[in-house]
Amino acid sequence: MRGRLPNKYNLPAEDRSYLSELADNGQLIQRIAIRARVLLALDRGERVVEIMRWFGLSRTKIWELWQRYQQRGVDAVFDEERSGRPPVFFLVYFQGCSLHCPGCWNPSSQKFHGIELTVPEVAQRFEEATRLESLEGVTFSGGEPMQQAEALLEVIREIRRVAPGVSFGMFTGYTETELAAGRYVTRLSANAEQKRELWRTIQGLLDFAVMGRYDQMLPVKEPLRTSRNQRLVLFSKRYQDCDFGPQLVEISIEGGGRSILTGFPVLGVPT
Ligand code: SF4
Repeated sequence: MRGRLPNKYNLPAEDRSYLSELADNGQLIQRIAIRARVLLALDRGERVVEIMRWFGLSRTKIWELWQRYQQRGVDAVFDEERSGRPPVFFLVYFQGCSLHCPGCWNPSSQKFHGIELTVPEVAQRFEEATRLESLEGVTFSGGEPMQQAEALLEVIREIRRVAPGVSFGMFTGYTETELAAGRYVTRLSANAEQKRELWRTIQGLLDFAVMGRYDQMLPVKEPLRTSRNQRLVLFSKRYQDCDFGPQLVEISIEGGGRSILTGFPVLGVPT
């Protein structure tokens, strides 16, 4: 009589139960739920070729996941600590800013015309990015994010819903005092009380913000800031000042020779 080969991928009952919860949790980042489902499928004795087909994974990836599970238990479904590798942030630019700082480092971001994206579309792009890369957090820049505060709040809530563990940071030309007093403009013309409430809610969801106008007369080398008057404010205990590294500049040169400069060129923009 031909029997079924013994399943070499057995999970203890408590691991099976925990992974089932993760697999069914619609709030989790997709790749974590997928890893849980893969381990459960192995435990059920599903054929590896079928698992490869269902989840779009290679045999090597499945084998690596199982090896990780052997070493780390159920923690294998979560992202590993990145030893020595800088955390990766997903950047959301808000087009438009009416603050008109002299010498604005990105004048093309001041006009309120650009690509219109809905909140679910931004969240979808974030989810697509998380499939490729383990993301530490999301930062909002511009332009001026607080001038679209209503949309900003929606985006934060939507991303938090799909990825409860990511951090949030913001670059704003407003000071904390201005925002707390509701002294800022929004695209949807909220009144002062609405703006104070909006800021209180957004502040409660942020981990950090770099705040204040850009002042071209006050160059700075401290992390994240573009001029010395700006403040790095930590709203949660997730980060400390020392978590933010020295300023870096990235220059991408496209096929046609067009170059894109990203970051903080402390010594000026090369010409
Ligand atoms: S706040 Fe930023 S984007 Fe707005 S004008 Fe100042 S430097 Fe430019």
